[in-house]
Amino acid sequence: MSLSLADTVGKVRPSKTLAVAAKARELREQGIDVINFSAGEPDFDTPQNIKDAAVKALQAGQTKYTAAGGTPELKKAVQAKLQRENGLTYTASQIIVNAGAKHTLFTLFQALLNDGDEVLIPAPYWVSYPDMVTLLRGKPIIIPTEAENNFEITVEDLQKYLTPRTKVLVLNSPANPTGSVYSQEKLQALADFLVDKNLYIVSDEIYEHFLYDGARFHSIAQLSEKIRAQTIVVNGVSKAYSMTGWRIGYAAGPENVLKAMTVIQSQSLSNPTSIAQAAAVEALNGSQSAVDKMLKAFQERRDYMCQFLLTIPGITCRCPQGAFYAFPDVSALYGKSCQGRKINNSEDLAELLLTAAHLAVVPGSGFGADNYIRLSYASSLENIRQGLARLKDFAAALI
Ligand SMILES: *Cc1c(COP(=O)(O)O)cnc(C)c1O
Repeated sequence: MSLSLADTVGKVRPSKTLAVAAKARELREQGIDVINFSAGEPDFDTPQNIKDAAVKALQAGQTKYTAAGGTPELKKAVQAKLQRENGLTYTASQIIVNAGAKHTLFTLFQALLNDGDEVLIPAPYWVSYPDMVTLLRGKPIIIPTEAENNFEITVEDLQKYLTPRTKVLVLNSPANPTGSVYSQEKLQALADFLVDKNLYIVSDEIYEHFLYDGARFHSIAQLSEKIRAQTIVVNGVSKAYSMTGWRIGYAAGPENVLKAMTVIQSQSLSNPTSIAQAAAVEALNGSQSAVDKMLKAFQERRDYMCQFLLTIPGITCRCPQGAFYAFPDVSALYGKSCQGRKINNSEDLAELLLTAAHLAVVPGSGFGADNYIRLSYASSLENIRQGLARLKDFAAALI
């Protein structure tokens, strides 16, 4: 007997960001004081008004299956949010609610991809895009970008990578891990080229609110009716409202795509948790003051981290305008050694930083950018001060 798994299983890797977090937790359980810069989630608690809404829903007996695509109340709240904040008008049948934006993306790729369909993914990319595409038997096509170009793709890149098999382009602005934010002009240039081309644009807008130094958010879907008809907007409450554990994400786009996603969800998830959906209604409709408070803290931390990184010899870093990560180039440290161990790449560096300096960072290799590491500033200013001091001492001690 030879019982085997699906071929695709051998081609996907577990999420690297989650792996680092697990290792850091392990060390901390051994009593080691690890400073964690690997967090992919805000360090704030979910705002009280949102928790209260969940409790109220629970006590009111909202504990049963809901409509597969989300409760009418939450769909309405998503509709209102897209109208109010983005000027985008969608009907309820053009919206779906899923169990987190990650699950939204997975369900979306399930609805879009046939075997071998090519998905254009600019690198550095969020860890899950290529593996999701591979799991669904699509073909991730990585478009490399440069720090000097703000890690943005250009029309020339699209011309180079577009083939008759291209089905989807993934955009993520503000971006994880680079923090890059596309300006309206740059998005317009991409939109002008992409309009009427035979492909979908998946716009992951989960960091929409995390903007610094007066940067503005723009969705490619806002640029014209035609480009909107090719675009699926993906967003969620995880990052903006510190609700990563609640698992609520959503998408809006062409009705046939959203209907297909809803059918898939009805045969897989059934529905996102009823109580979490009620909480998400309050997140979107209720007071936004907790978001503003959180953003003020993030601006201060980001300024400190960026300025400090510039003082570390061997590390170069642009100061990103969005998300909550710094993404420094650490390749000048490669070839050096720590405690007799040579650093050849970002994984060696991340491992040594964790074991020798007790600082958890995510290696750039997971994002398709091995010259970099990702430092999350979703951590207290005091932690950031201590962690960066450890990084500086570690770099200075390399030989
Ligand atoms: C965190 C994240 C997501 C997924 O968030 P959920 O918690 O699943 O809603 C999606 N895209 C990017 C770029 C992210 O960083």
